[in-house]
Amino acid sequence: MRIKAFLLIISCCCFFSCSRQPSQLNQWMEPNGKPKVLSTIAMIDDLVAEIAGEYIDHTVLIYGEVDPHSYELVKGDGEKFEYADLIFYNGLGLEHGASIQSHLQRHSHAVPLGETIAKEDLLTFDGQIDPHIWMDITLWSHVIDPIVMHLSEIDKEHREIYEQNGKQLKEKMLQKDQELMTMIHEIPQEKRYLVTSHDAFNYFTRRYLANPNENKDAKWKIRHQAPEGLSPEGQISVKDIQKVVDFLCAYDIPVVFSESNINKDSLNKIIDVCKKRGKEVRIATTPLYGDSMGKSGSDADSYLKMLEHNIKTIHTSLSHEK
Ligand SMILES: [Zn+2]
Repeated sequence: MRIKAFLLIISCCCFFSCSRQPSQLNQWMEPNGKPKVLSTIAMIDDLVAEIAGEYIDHTVLIYGEVDPHSYELVKGDGEKFEYADLIFYNGLGLEHGASIQSHLQRHSHAVPLGETIAKEDLLTFDGQIDPHIWMDITLWSHVIDPIVMHLSEIDKEHREIYEQNGKQLKEKMLQKDQELMTMIHEIPQEKRYLVTSHDAFNYFTRRYLANPNENKDAKWKIRHQAPEGLSPEGQISVKDIQKVVDFLCAYDIPVVFSESNINKDSLNKIIDVCKKRGKEVRIATTPLYGDSMGKSGSDADSYLKMLEHNIKTIHTSLSHEK
């Protein structure tokens, strides 16, 4: 307890000077008897909040429009790991920064939610599992049960409430999935092609952009291209750019989508090469959310609002072109 109190003082000093959300973090670290749950990404934290309600103190490690693939711990993050009774992370190679990996492996109760998804539902590219499972609401709803189970383990007293909240959340998510599916299928299928900055939208494409008959033999893949791979910090080659340019020309696609946490350099290169080939392409005015939710108060500040923002943005941009 003494160590925890010492860490709290140190952390408070640090958070006032460098945190993005000091009051929430101080509140989270307050020793009030409630279990402390840390999630690596906001899309997990949002589900934990819905399921746990007032009975658990929850917070998120990678906050705001920051790339989770290459995230390395900053000052104060180590204390969050020390304080957490339970940690949820995506896994499947998403949080691959060395410092975050070492803390996750050392913690006694860190749960990789992505690894609870059935293998046959996961996508693999060049031997690497695609970690962006939150992009398909039905798939993401599968992480509710393990969250309920682990919350119930650290707080048996409220198990029934977590189970009930989990059930309601699942229903809400599946209903939103159907609503968004109806909306996006209003876009004529010959216009339902997507170009984004990096490969965060494969599950999204399989679920929302493809026609049902394209799910056989992975034909849905023809509906999405991105210059940057599964993780956006890699180098982009001329071949990567050329592949996307060919795609835009082949399907006569007039618009590409940037992502809120990635710069537009690769998309601008693509637009330049298209121009040289006589093909006009523009970047949609509103970015999509790939690896992060929107800021508090924005139209994407919850998991379901993030997905709805993406579908509405794609709907508006693709439906009204040409
Ligand atoms: Zn990503």
